[in-house]
Amino acid sequence: MSEIRLVQSVKEMSSLAEAFRKEGKRIVLVPTMGYFHQGHLALMKAGKNLGDKLVVSIFVNPLQFGMKEGFYRYPRDLERDQKMAEDVGVDVLFVPSSEEMYPQGFQTYVEVEKLSKPLCGISRPWLFRGVATVVLKLFNIVKPHVGIFGLKDYQQFLVIKRMVKDLNLDIEIVGHPTVREPDGLAMSSRNVYLSPEERDSALSLYRAILRAKELISSGVKDVAILKENLEELILSHPYTRIDYIEFVDPETLESVKEVKGPTLLALAVYVGLARVLDNAVINERGEILS
Ligand code: AMP
Repeated sequence: MSEIRLVQSVKEMSSLAEAFRKEGKRIVLVPTMGYFHQGHLALMKAGKNLGDKLVVSIFVNPLQFGMKEGFYRYPRDLERDQKMAEDVGVDVLFVPSSEEMYPQGFQTYVEVEKLSKPLCGISRPWLFRGVATVVLKLFNIVKPHVGIFGLKDYQQFLVIKRMVKDLNLDIEIVGHPTVREPDGLAMSSRNVYLSPEERDSALSLYRAILRAKELISSGVKDVAILKENLEELILSHPYTRIDYIEFVDPETLESVKEVKGPTLLALAVYVGLARVLDNAVINERGEILS
């Protein structure tokens, strides 16, 4: 296996990508904020099979964080990440600084209007503008043929797909299923913030997904009833405070009143100071589709 190449400058990454393209290589990009776990590694392993050169970016994007949201305390460990990426065969680790990405005078943003508004967009109206802007920049710098995104961040996946379509980017967007701990907790870099008691409360999101599956398969289709039931289940766990529990159309993210076909159940819950996300697409028979 060849050694991983660490690139920190935009200019170097851009010319490297240009050289890959000239050699006819198919470039795959996995954008991340680092502090890798098995979810990230699964996206990378999938990426190995989708092209010739696998680029992973690590950039904790200040545009995605609110005022008090812990941009500075977001977990970081480049040495550990580099080793983990090398072990799965990543070719290039692109780790630009904020100054490289947003030099003085920066003032251009991408807004994916409707898909950015519901769910996480309600408590974080700045979030998807930050995501779309940084991902478009990464696409322009890394010039990938394929971009891989986790369905754990389902709304982000839809926002990126929409941006690619609307702006005619010639990039295939691949969604990767959510990777979970053995007990069902969706993996996240932010899980390190959870104490053991909080971690058990964070499991309430997965328990809620399983409860929804059970209720829907036993014939409960009314979203108001489902939501009430899931809310009660989650709040029976200590330290929890619900941001949202929503059943929405998996393509438009518009609310539905009844589960008549594939429906996205999206959950965001504060557990102590951490905000935990999870989701599943469930059909009217109670089958989990993703
Ligand atoms: P992050 O570093 O949290 O921004 O995540 C980088 C990429 O990995 C995003 O596309 C996420 O959706 C994806 N990701 C994070 N956690 C998971 C997980 N548990 N399963 C699948 N994909 C994930």
